[in-house]
Amino acid sequence: MVVRAADTYASTDGRGTLSIARDADLDADDSLAQMIFHELCHSLVEGEDSFRAPDWGMDNTGPDHDWREHACLRAQWVLTGRHGLRVLFAPTTDFRAFWDTLSGDVLSDRTDPSVQAAIAALRRAALPPWAPALEDALAATARIAAEAARFSAPANDAAPLWTGIDAPPARHPSGLPAGASSGATGSCATCAWRFDARGSARCRQAETKVDPSWPACERYEAAPSLDCQTCGACCRAAYHSVEVSRRDPMVKKQPSYLEDRGTYLEIRRAGDRCSALGGGLIEAGRLTRFACAIYDDRPRTCRDFTLGSAHCLTARRRVGLSL
Ligand code: SF4
Ligand code: SF4
Repeated sequence: MVVRAADTYASTDGRGTLSIARDADLDADDSLAQMIFHELCHSLVEGEDSFRAPDWGMDNTGPDHDWREHACLRAQWVLTGRHGLRVLFAPTTDFRAFWDTLSGDVLSDRTDPSVQAAIAALRRAALPPWAPALEDALAATARIAAEAARFSAPANDAAPLWTGIDAPPARHPSGLPAGASSGATGSCATCAWRFDARGSARCRQAETKVDPSWPACERYEAAPSLDCQTCGACCRAAYHSVEVSRRDPMVKKQPSYLEDRGTYLEIRRAGDRCSALGGGLIEAGRLTRFACAIYDDRPRTCRDFTLGSAHCLTARRRVGLSL
């Protein structure tokens, strides 16, 4: 439920009510629809549990606040880009300055925690309880905005909100959202998700044939940009166990990393990651590079895992590194 309140700009109570300031307390360029949508983007970043926490569990302080806000805005930028609503749905708070810096592929830098959180948010947007209501509401808003724009006059105070309505970009020929939504450039030819089978180019995302000359869709990832040291997906939550043969040279070289499960050996875990994996910490707003402490002695299971393979890409999706 959305209510208008005198003592807030925008806040949630963790019990299903979103309070937004009254019209008289908003600036001329504030858009009520944008403010509600922005709050929903916070819920996408913070996940479904945030429905039960005041202000989505955010306290507007602490070292994690800025990148979570940036993640919200990146997701907002992509979702509004699908419908030509970036100007109408531009935020107006202190974070407007960050919004104005967004351009190009806003999801390309996987070392930025806000990018990883935005990707996770965008994946949630395709699932209930957000889907299909959120996309339907954006599409309906785009239709209303297109009509309203026809009647706005330059002298009208509200005109700035209506003069930036873009036609929604056509969907990519594969059926996926167009690259214009995320700012992705490139083509299917250079995309990590394209593979060749029986003489045809196919896409692991769209699960269909693609023409390598097609421009990038929203989910494009440049194949050369895949980098294990900014990923580590297969060594952390994507897979829960690394089994090791008793004949593997690692057994003699690195026995302290092994657990004997009776019928098999596996590398010990440290939380949700391999105990040999270091890095991936947020320092000065960036994720540190991953590194394997036993890389030269790693077992056959790890050596056989290939960068850019279907398993690799699946691992990246599982940890939220890929759309
Ligand atoms: S994910 Fe890559 S290969 Fe698939 S349609 Fe998009 S750009 Fe093309
Ligand atoms: S092989 Fe793939 S999933 Fe594993 S660390 Fe490298 S890029 Fe990530």
